[in-house]
Amino acid sequence: MKITVVGTGYVGLVSGACLAEMGNDVLCLDLDPEKIRILKEGGIPIHEPGLDHVVARNVAAGRLHFTTDVQEAVQFGTIQFIAVGTPPDEDGSADLKYVLAAARSIGRHMTDYKVIVDKSTVPVGTADKVKAAVREELDARGASIPYSVVSNPEFLKEGAAVDDFMRPDRIVVGAEDDQAIFLMKALYAPFQRNHEKLLIMDLRSAELTKYAANAMLATRISFMNELALLAENLGADIELVRQGIGSDPRIGYHFLYAGCGYGGSCFPKDVKALIKTGTDAGHALHVLNAVEDANDAQKLVLVDKIVSRFGEDLSGKHFALWGLAFKPNTDDMREAPSRVIIAELFRRGATVTAYDPVAMDESRRIFGDEARLTYADRPMQALDGADALVIVTEWKEFRSPDFDAIKAKLKSPLIFDGRNIFDPALPRQAGLTYLSIGRP
Ligand code: NAD
Repeated sequence: MKITVVGTGYVGLVSGACLAEMGNDVLCLDLDPEKIRILKEGGIPIHEPGLDHVVARNVAAGRLHFTTDVQEAVQFGTIQFIAVGTPPDEDGSADLKYVLAAARSIGRHMTDYKVIVDKSTVPVGTADKVKAAVREELDARGASIPYSVVSNPEFLKEGAAVDDFMRPDRIVVGAEDDQAIFLMKALYAPFQRNHEKLLIMDLRSAELTKYAANAMLATRISFMNELALLAENLGADIELVRQGIGSDPRIGYHFLYAGCGYGGSCFPKDVKALIKTGTDAGHALHVLNAVEDANDAQKLVLVDKIVSRFGEDLSGKHFALWGLAFKPNTDDMREAPSRVIIAELFRRGATVTAYDPVAMDESRRIFGDEARLTYADRPMQALDGADALVIVTEWKEFRSPDFDAIKAKLKSPLIFDGRNIFDPALPRQAGLTYLSIGRP
C-alpha cells in the first residue's frame, strides 16, 4: 500500500518505518526541515532502540522516503496518517492546531480517495473536526472527492517503540465506513498473524480508549506513589507490598513501581486533557485530579528528602544526578522529573553535575548555557566533588555500581534513589546511607 505519514516524531517515524518493514511504500512528511535533512542523510533525529536499523533497511530497499513537500506527500499515500504533536493548551486541553493544519493540507491537495487516520492522541470528537476541516478545503476549491476519517490511536512506548509497533498488544481502529475498515484490516494484517488483535469500534470510543489507557496507567503509578509515602511513614516496605498485591491476577505486576513521579510526553498531557474533557462535559474526574496532584508532589519527593538531610538552604551544595530522561532507553525529557528536581535544587542554591547515557544533548538544549548544571562523561565522574548522589532514571548501567567507590567519592555518604534500583542491603554494607522511595 502507499502510505503517507504526516509528522516524523517518535510516533510518525516509528510507524512509517515499521509500515515500510511490512512491504508498504511509505513517505514521511515533516515541516521541520532539519529533521528531514538528518533523515535524508541517513541519521535518526531521536534515540529509539533498533529504529536506525529498520529505517536504514527500508530506505535502502526504496520503500521509505522523507520529504518536506506537503503536496507531494498528500498525493502519495491512499492512507494518510496524521502523527503530529498534540501538546497541552493553556487550559490543559489538547491543542489540535497541528492536527487540523495537517487535515486542512490534505483537503487542499488531495486529488483522489484518501483514508485519513488520526494516530495522534486526540480528544473525543476530533475525527468530526478533521472531517469538517477536510470538507471545508474541498468545498473551497469546489472539489468533490471521497474520503474517510479513521481513529487509530498509538500505544507504543518510547524506548521499546519498534517492538511495540511490530508486535502490538492490540490495534484499535475507530471507523464508520466499510471501505476504510477494509483498508485498515489489510494494512494491519501482517502485524497480527498470530492472533486477531484488531479492535474495530466507533470513532468516539477509539478516541476515548487511548486516554483511558494512559489515565489508568498514570493512576496505578500515583496510587503506588501515595502508598509508598504511607509505607515510609508506617515502617513498611512498598516493594514487598507491590509483590504482595501484584501476585493477584486482577491487579498484576505491571506498572506498580513507586518512584519520583511519571513524566514524558504522554501521561502528564493526556491526564490533563482527559480532566479537561470531563470538565467540559460537566463530568468532573475526581480520581484523575488526585492522580495529577499526587504526581506533581511526587516529583519533589527526592528534594524533600535532600532538604531533610541538608536543610532548606542548599547554597554551596553540589549534587551528582544520574538520569535525565523521563525513563530509560529514550532521550525524551518532556515533563521529566529530572527537570523539576534540577530546578528546585537550583532554587535552593545548589549546583548539579548530571550524567545520562543518551539525554545529555537534549538537556543542553533545554538548559542552554546554565552554569549551575554541568555534565559528566561517565556515571562515576559525576560524583567528583558531589555532596550526595541523586538517581532519577532507572538506566540499566546504574544498577550494579561499585558502592565502595561511590562512598569514597561523595562528601557525604548519601544516595537518594528515586527509582528503587538497589537492594538496600548493598549500599548500606558499603557504609552508605541509602534513601529510596517507600522503603525503610
Ligand atoms: P513529536 O513532537 O515527537 O513529533 C511530532 C512531529 O510532527 C514533529 O516532528 C513536527 O515537526 C511534526 N509536525 C507538526 N505539524 C506538522 C504538519 N502540519 N505537517 C508535518 N509535520 C508536522 O510527537 P510524538 O511524540 O511523535 O507524538 C505525536 C502524537 O502521538 C501525539 O499526539 C502524542 O500524544 C501521540 N503519542 C505519542 C507517543 C510517544 O510515546 N511519544 C505514544 C503514543 C501516542
